[in-house]
Amino acid sequence: MKEPSFYENVMISFERAAALTKHPKGLLDQIRECNCVYQMRFPVKIGKQYEVIEAYRVQHSHHRLPTKGGIRFSEHASQEEVMALAALMTFKCALVDVPFGGAKGGVKINHKKYNVDQLEKITRRYTVELIRKGFIGPSLDVPAPDYGTGSREMAWILDTYRTFATTEIDAVGCVTGKPVSQNGIRGRTEATGRGVYYGIRELLEQEAEMKAIGLTPGIEGKTMVIQGFGNVGSYTASISAEEGGAKVIAIAEVEGTLHNPDGININKLVAYKKSKGKVSGFPGAKLLTEKDAWLKIPCDILVPAALESQINLGNVKLVNAKIIAEAANGPVTAKAEEILLKKGVVILPDMYLNAGGVTVSYFEWLKNLSHMRFGRMDKRFNQNTNMNMVSLIENMTGKHVSKRKKQELIKGGDEIDLVRSGLEETMLNAFHQIREVKNRRKKVKDYRSAAFVCATDKIAGDYLAMGVFP
Ligand code: NAD
Repeated sequence: MKEPSFYENVMISFERAAALTKHPKGLLDQIRECNCVYQMRFPVKIGKQYEVIEAYRVQHSHHRLPTKGGIRFSEHASQEEVMALAALMTFKCALVDVPFGGAKGGVKINHKKYNVDQLEKITRRYTVELIRKGFIGPSLDVPAPDYGTGSREMAWILDTYRTFATTEIDAVGCVTGKPVSQNGIRGRTEATGRGVYYGIRELLEQEAEMKAIGLTPGIEGKTMVIQGFGNVGSYTASISAEEGGAKVIAIAEVEGTLHNPDGININKLVAYKKSKGKVSGFPGAKLLTEKDAWLKIPCDILVPAALESQINLGNVKLVNAKIIAEAANGPVTAKAEEILLKKGVVILPDMYLNAGGVTVSYFEWLKNLSHMRFGRMDKRFNQNTNMNMVSLIENMTGKHVSKRKKQELIKGGDEIDLVRSGLEETMLNAFHQIREVKNRRKKVKDYRSAAFVCATDKIAGDYLAMGVFP
């Protein structure tokens, strides 16, 4: 049976949820449709030849500005794919109260085939195309990293933008996910994976729900299988293992699935991949090369963190997990989801679970507009206040607080502490908003529908407040 495309899958999920709301059709149509699609072709000289590169930027919704969304380098990038990702960004931002419309960019290249100089040329030329059409700027549209891009590409984008916007005081806010030394923010690189961890941890705290699927509450000791060991997958793995005590028993990459039922040492694997550029050959686990081996491994939590449509009608029957935590965008097709939900698998949807990246991007944008690092004004003030309090308690009780404990108690928040705390608050708050919709509205049966209903209500609220749909 032919499955709907990624874009159609997103639309199916939206329509399902829209039917559970009472908003008028015209308003729902406006919320659903992409507002602007910019398709471009530009030449880049690679070696002695010119290559014509196909690329996109889609702004899905202008109900809030700027629009926001990553740039993907992938040979599979297409207009439909970028439209799907841009739409997801709109709902994601609304859900986690990040005041942006959704957008996304795609450059149709296999980034692994180009050297660093060639990637720089492509990135800079793409940025120029965005500038020419007004598709980038701190108050218009703010890109970020996604599949195949990272802080290096964001630094090139900023530098190119600044070359043209010489008098713009807030120019550094034209892109997020930049290196910290280039007006980035501490904690952005790990943010998506850390947010995934907070979301999974919170779900596992729901005692009754976990009991219903045969799990004890708490993340500690739970087995985890992860597909994709790039930015999102590797941070999800390391933070879940180190801070949550989860046992990561398998990592699937393009070369195959690394499996160790006793748990894989994630820090060693990160170092191994960094030095070898691959995961195969890692001495701490067995490499399974059979197709879809990662799906068959029994586990508590399955984390697809690579690309869309990875769990589909063709392989859904292999899934052997109780929870699917969608770290990637669109990794489970709508039809596969129907089957999984019937089997009682709990799915934490992408639009919620991977929202940590855009949340910290929002913090970075705020930092750029304020031209000041978080914590600079209040860290020492808080430290002194806390110190006075500890001294008072010591004087009143006559007891001495150890030097180590004292340091812990008086600590003022650094940028990284504030970013992590803001991210945790955002992920927990959004989780309980979705859960409330799921529990309160009888017809809402799953987390994805609940997340879409929640986000759609907020966007509808914006349009109604603007008087666009009286
Ligand atoms: P990345 O390029 O850093 O890593 C992706 C990894 O997946 C790579 O290591 C790649 O080799 C691997 N991979 C590709 N195809 C695979 C396959 N068939 N099987 C196993 N592994 C495969 O990308 P990323 O930034 O980690 O993004 C991953 C997903 O998370 C994407 O869906 C992206 O849209 C989503 N996402 C990323 C961010 C972010 O901040 N980077 C934010 C939100 C969502």
